[in-house]
Amino acid sequence: MKLTFTFYFLFFTALMHAQRDFSKVGITSEKLSDNIHVLFGAGGNIGLAIGETHAYVIDDQFGPLTDKILAHIKSITAKPVKYVLNTHWHGDHTGGNENMAKQGALIIAHDNVRKRMSTKQDRGGGRISEPSPEDALPVITFNDKMTLHLGNGKTMYAMHVNDAHTDGDSYYYFPEDNVLHMGDNFFEGRYPYIDLNSGGDIDGLISNVSMVLGMVDEETKIIPGHGKVAGKNDLESYKNVLTALRGRIVKARSDGNSLEETKKMGLSKEWDATHGTGFIGPDRIVEFIYKSAD
Ligand SMILES: [Zn+2]
Repeated sequence: MKLTFTFYFLFFTALMHAQRDFSKVGITSEKLSDNIHVLFGAGGNIGLAIGETHAYVIDDQFGPLTDKILAHIKSITAKPVKYVLNTHWHGDHTGGNENMAKQGALIIAHDNVRKRMSTKQDRGGGRISEPSPEDALPVITFNDKMTLHLGNGKTMYAMHVNDAHTDGDSYYYFPEDNVLHMGDNFFEGRYPYIDLNSGGDIDGLISNVSMVLGMVDEETKIIPGHGKVAGKNDLESYKNVLTALRGRIVKARSDGNSLEETKKMGLSKEWDATHGTGFIGPDRIVEFIYKSAD
């Protein structure tokens, strides 16, 4: 018994360290247009826009990866990273803010990103996020939208959207390049994470996705928060899954089923094998929708 316990203890300790070992993480990238790239490593997908005189970065993963991320960016452009924009406050998207700021970048995000990063956050299930250091906080915040002028006639629109993944979600859109970064409003081919403790809401998520579908065309390249670069059809399928699930769960709820009863109904079963094997499984997506749908 004791041996088994020791084995599992060591095994899981090793597993936890393996997950935290950023030395094994490599950064790769994909070119989406003349001046827009996406970078992959560990954590949220990073957008990179190359302006006339500076580089612009959307989200920056985890602090231990900053050097590798900057080295990768240097292999793409010699222009310095002057602006870092966050899609929302979560640590796998803002963990590099402090390092980026220390090497001269200005951090920009929605008002609520700064609010949540500067105070202790309870993520539920015993997960506590301590306040971020001052240098990690956005120094320019916006409440609705703003435009960044990149030079060479190119622009980036920052757009705060309805409460969906959190209450501080923003999209970054490059109209001339037809590229959109949706942050964690889009988990490509996966059930989304709706952070209820940060003001997340399924109805806001569905309305944001519908808004995007009305805005993009077949050529638009959509950077999801996690997963591969997608297009309009992928986003449409994602919306269809969310809408169908929402309908079933709201019906079960209004028929008087408790959350536990609703979880046992198998309402998501046709998508569980494709969408529910990662971070968010069937029980959690049912819970998010049950608790946040109006
Ligand atoms: Zn997130």
